[in-house]
Amino acid sequence: MDQTQIDTLRAQDVAPFTHLIDGKKVAASNGKTMDVLSPIDGQVLTQVAKGTAADMDAAVAAARGAFEDGRWSGQGPAARKKVLMKWADLIDAHALELAVLGVRDNGTEIGMAIKAEPGSASGTIRYYAEALDKVYGEVAPTNPDILGMIHKEPVGVVGAIIPWNFPMMIGAWKLGPALAMGNSVVMKPSETASLSLLRMAELAHEAGLPDGVLNVVTGEGAVVGEALALSMDVDVLVFTGSGGTGRRLMEYSARSNMKRVYLELGGKSPNIIFADAPYLDEAAKVAAMGIFRNSGQVCVAGSRLLVEASIHDEFVAAVVKAAEGLRVGDPLSLDTHVGAINSETQLLQNLAFVETAKTEGGRVVTGGQRILENTGGYYMAPTVVTDVTRDATIAQKEVFGPVLAVTAFDTDAEAISLANSTIYGLAGAVWTSNLSRAHAMVRAVKTGVMHVNTYGGADGTVPLGGVGQSGNGHDKSLHALDKYVNLKTAWIKL
Ligand code: NAD
Repeated sequence: MDQTQIDTLRAQDVAPFTHLIDGKKVAASNGKTMDVLSPIDGQVLTQVAKGTAADMDAAVAAARGAFEDGRWSGQGPAARKKVLMKWADLIDAHALELAVLGVRDNGTEIGMAIKAEPGSASGTIRYYAEALDKVYGEVAPTNPDILGMIHKEPVGVVGAIIPWNFPMMIGAWKLGPALAMGNSVVMKPSETASLSLLRMAELAHEAGLPDGVLNVVTGEGAVVGEALALSMDVDVLVFTGSGGTGRRLMEYSARSNMKRVYLELGGKSPNIIFADAPYLDEAAKVAAMGIFRNSGQVCVAGSRLLVEASIHDEFVAAVVKAAEGLRVGDPLSLDTHVGAINSETQLLQNLAFVETAKTEGGRVVTGGQRILENTGGYYMAPTVVTDVTRDATIAQKEVFGPVLAVTAFDTDAEAISLANSTIYGLAGAVWTSNLSRAHAMVRAVKTGVMHVNTYGGADGTVPLGGVGQSGNGHDKSLHALDKYVNLKTAWIKL
């Protein structure tokens, strides 16, 4: 990847995208489209279809038809593996094109996007392609006159609703295991990051995925997302996004066919620094990147820094130095460390959180403001707020922006109590040289993932899922397969 290649791609016009239903590109049934604004400069990049509930119903019907006639669900594992492997290869072959398209749509810095988006998506699809012929049923330990068998069957039609921060990576976390297990899928990308997923779905068809097995419908969450979640013909709904939407999806399920709903939601993840951390300089740099990469628009972002009081001032100074050393700007420049905020709405929301923090006693020690406004794009300076109290809004609510809330603690018990003082439980970290303390903290902090002496970077071999109001399921690893199968018992009298 070099800058010239990136610049050539960014100069290309992006043709309007339509839905992908039953293998065909189709416009919205009422002909409406939505402008796609690029967060890089606030300009219109292209259009996508502004879907209707009828469009969503058509996509679900296509997925159902494909599932029932067995064009994918009825194929043997080797055949399914071949298509998924080819798809992963095509994603790799188009990696830069996909990454640049995605960045023009959502603003993530290209250095991160190339690894986290096509790089991660192809790896995930390959992982589940390799796994799909290693999934066995079971024979139960019954009395000798009975044969009790447990079959694992695909669930049928999976609905997948995806957010904007890492559309390809998160999309693949759902599509990989769902398709590997033989299901059909209807996907609804975010309004502000549909393009790379639409292109990735085209590549799936090029790889040989039969028509109707993967359908993509774009449009507003409250219209097409709601229609998907209310559908009587969707068997499992998988979602990554905000808690508010997740709550609605559960209601929609209850009001319709009681489909299983798996939620991957937000977080307010604590990064806990003890004075005996093995390398404090490194910890400060990692803490900064743990919150500021992708402008803090990362579900597992270490958005709360809990620092032992004895090192608070020097450690905060090191984090501030690291934050101020980050180059924020054009996400398509290889020199940029931190790209754009996804939308103006999100940027204004971030700034409002900073203002609230100030009124609640927080001290903004760096950042706190919009920058590069002359570009027309949406950029914010990496922001560190100290003196944040346990109950402050900024300590309790997910900002989903480049804003770090810092609180000092004196004892292990206080660190644990602070760490567990929110409704969330997605991720966290502890930095210490004391092995017992590290293990004790891993047990005591209520999250789906705890890092020790590092932050972020967990690969596809381990599950990602939250506790509390951070979610109720897992993406990644072999555990994710469970969401996409039904267990069926065969009880046979011999
Ligand atoms: P969001 O909830 O606003 O939107 C997510 C998706 O839901 C979008 O596709 C949107 O169109 C759709 N949607 C919105 N309203 C809907 C409705 N009424 N019915 C059906 N669908 C609807 O979230 P977002 O702003 O796109 O993403 C940011 C959130 O995602 C943050 O809270 C972040 O922490 C979370 N997230 C979690 C993880 C994880 O793995 N736990 C990963 C990434 C992001």
